[in-house]
Amino acid sequence: MTPVFPGFLDAHVHLALIDPARLAGAGIGRVLDLGGWAPDGRLLGGTADEQAAEQAAGTAAPSGLQPETRFAGQFLTAPGGYPSRQAWAPPGSSCPVASPGDAAAAVARQADAGAAVIKVTLNPMAGPVLNADTLAAIVAAAQERLLPVAAHAEGPGQAAAAFRAGVNLFAHTPFSQRLPDDAITAMAARMTWISTLDIHGWGQPTAAFSTASDNLARFHAAGGRVLYGTDLGNGPLPVGLNRREIEALLACGLSPDDVLAALTADFPHVPAGGRAASAAEASTAAPGRVTVIPGDRPTDPNDLTGFTDWLLGARSLPASVLPRTELEDLTS
Ligand SMILES: [Zn+2]
Repeated sequence: MTPVFPGFLDAHVHLALIDPARLAGAGIGRVLDLGGWAPDGRLLGGTADEQAAEQAAGTAAPSGLQPETRFAGQFLTAPGGYPSRQAWAPPGSSCPVASPGDAAAAVARQADAGAAVIKVTLNPMAGPVLNADTLAAIVAAAQERLLPVAAHAEGPGQAAAAFRAGVNLFAHTPFSQRLPDDAITAMAARMTWISTLDIHGWGQPTAAFSTASDNLARFHAAGGRVLYGTDLGNGPLPVGLNRREIEALLACGLSPDDVLAALTADFPHVPAGGRAASAAEASTAAPGRVTVIPGDRPTDPNDLTGFTDWLLGARSLPASVLPRTELEDLTS
């Protein structure tokens, strides 16, 4: 029988910059938008026409092709900070946070729009960065609402600063410097890293790719939790499951089963500890997606090429099209 998996998750996409209807045919059933998108263009301050276009891009495709979507909303950044000056960032996609006193309102704005995660950016090469107190206040405000915080950390010391402030996820495997083993071990105990290895060079060797791969290999070996993610929308990445990202994960020492775990994990969330699901979870609940992979998985665990070839045949479907018995298999 054709294996059925939870819809494969790309945990780092930018829906404003891609056609999401193309994802299903290439295996991706769930996406986490990490900044610059909201369901109806609210938050982003574009013109009415731009909002209508965005809405069309996000919702016009047949529902059978739509990925299950969670999103961060605006990038929380220092005034003038990354990515508010980047050409690719749609107008209004950043929310400046000048001081700890601004943090709660900035988080509330995203939460009220339905955000399931809060995105912060720390990139001193592209503008001012949030100071430690402001970053800590953002993390505290997000935790109050059971929203995990994902950081874009770029430049020397920024990953360590984000970790110290209590950030839950890195939107990118740290790629600016080799992190010491003790830092990796500490991060592996409580962080999730979103891989995004292939954005560094798209198959051509780069220093950032090597640095990120080395950090991710040690993070994985230390027991750290890895999610498949590509930063889809930035640069020439394939829309759908990315063979080079899979190959890079395998090269970091993830087994084929580890790669499947990185693709089928739940959306990032803060354990509710018995409290009711947050409003964001309820409002973004959509018909579930599954991913099916035709053909037989290679039985030889060392046949990584065969595994990758098989995996790349994945397609995503609405769970509702499958017979009930297959879904029971999925959850058993
Ligand atoms: Zn991104």
